[in-house]
Amino acid sequence: MAFNIPETGQERIVIVGAGFAGLKLARSLVRSSYQVVLIDRNNYHQFQPLFYQVAMAGLEPSSISFPLRKIFQRASNVLIRYAEIEKIDLEHKKIYADLGYLNYDKLVLCTGATTNFFGNKAFEELTLPMKSISEALGLRNAILTDYERALSIRDFDERQELIDIVVVGGGATGVEVAGALAEMKKYILPKDYRELPYGEVDIYLIHAGSQLLPGMSDKASTNSLRYLKELGVQVILNKRVQSFDGDFVYTNDGDKIRCGKVIWAAGIICPVLEGVIDTQLGRGKRIKVDRYLRVPEQQDVFVLGDAAIVEGDPKYPDGHPQVAQTAIQMAKNLASNLKQKNPEHWRVFTYRDLGSMATIGRNRAVVDLPNFKFKGFFAWIVWLLVHLYSLLGVRNKVIVFLNWIWNYFTYDQSLRLIIRASKEPKKPK
Ligand SMILES: Cc1cc2nc3c(=O)[nH]c(=O)nc-3n(C[C@H](O)[C@H](O)[C@H](O)COP(=O)(O)OP(=O)(O)OC[C@H]3O[C@@H](n4cnc5c(N)ncnc54)[C@H](O)[C@@H]3O)c2cc1C
Repeated sequence: MAFNIPETGQERIVIVGAGFAGLKLARSLVRSSYQVVLIDRNNYHQFQPLFYQVAMAGLEPSSISFPLRKIFQRASNVLIRYAEIEKIDLEHKKIYADLGYLNYDKLVLCTGATTNFFGNKAFEELTLPMKSISEALGLRNAILTDYERALSIRDFDERQELIDIVVVGGGATGVEVAGALAEMKKYILPKDYRELPYGEVDIYLIHAGSQLLPGMSDKASTNSLRYLKELGVQVILNKRVQSFDGDFVYTNDGDKIRCGKVIWAAGIICPVLEGVIDTQLGRGKRIKVDRYLRVPEQQDVFVLGDAAIVEGDPKYPDGHPQVAQTAIQMAKNLASNLKQKNPEHWRVFTYRDLGSMATIGRNRAVVDLPNFKFKGFFAWIVWLLVHLYSLLGVRNKVIVFLNWIWNYFTYDQSLRLIIRASKEPKKPK
């Protein structure tokens, strides 16, 4: 058993994934009677809502990530393993990774979701997703590298291909990225790349639906569209991106846009671990759970966050929204149930909608609270405060806050470095 986890006689809970759900659960079980093993393919927790600011060189990756070992330095009952889980054996209660296998008494899957390319290999290979810190950095490098290259290109069409950007998907991620790109064009390009005719830079946002920000109110959708237009983003609604060959984006109505860089924010799907069977999966390959977040017929296996679809909640027949609050609330619910050893006293999971928001450049945001919807500068301040509050670690909060203040007054961040790893460490045998 290569994980080298000591047998202490305590009941062992193995949590796979240290995102919002897994981390909250592990933290809630510190000093409980359980031995908790928290496993993630990264040795840090990442704050996904601010990925786009890393991609736009507004923040450093370390300001929105937090090392897992630091969080649990004083938690003697929590052990961390840096590993990618590949397979589950539900019958023998084992999980497998390249490190070997590990037995569990209770298993909690918090593996989140990944980018959905809808089975299209070209989209997967040629577009730029933003579902991890490394992808956000990859995007940053791609944008900056293309601006650098474009400076040496005389041919208009060739230059266009390097500097124009298409964002696919008008959900919160697509809208926020498009807004940030438009601000980069307005404030950064004229200073850093002053030889580039910045009027030539086109930013497109293509969305298959008729309204941006599906899931938010009509008001939020209309206002976000207006804000993006004010920033010069070319918003194309009711069109689907059919294909991309690295030079042109083709839409379903036969139109094409010359562009070498496509940011893919068109949807998510859950990765399926070997050992999970098809009948256990629901929409978006989320694992079906009952209202105690338990996999039916697997009393010791639970699923939380983006990876779970709760069956039997009449208010959310299609599952709860795949957002951070759902993950956190599910983790709280399961932690309190697990501490209450008698399942007869367990509480069913009930989602409390705390609202949703999106920001579109500086001073502009839309906020939908359950009973109150607003926009503009006040909404933007609320967005900033909520994200600052939700970040892990005082150092990160201070650094992000200072970065934002600096950026607000100078319109100029100094993080636009193209840094690539030259050599990857060897994988363990
Ligand atoms: C760009 C972006 C912006 C977003 N903005 C917002 C926002 O503004 N507000 C909001 O509420 N939500 C937002 N979301 C959604 C929100 O981040 C997710 O709903 C939330 O992260 C789900 O939490 P989770 O714990 O289920 O999964 P995640 O937070 O995704 O965590 C999953 C963890 O599992 C690990 N993992 C996965 N598979 C394995 C494996 N096989 N072995 C080991 N480890 C594994 C991953 O490394 C990761 O750490 C955004 C998402 C993205 C991508």
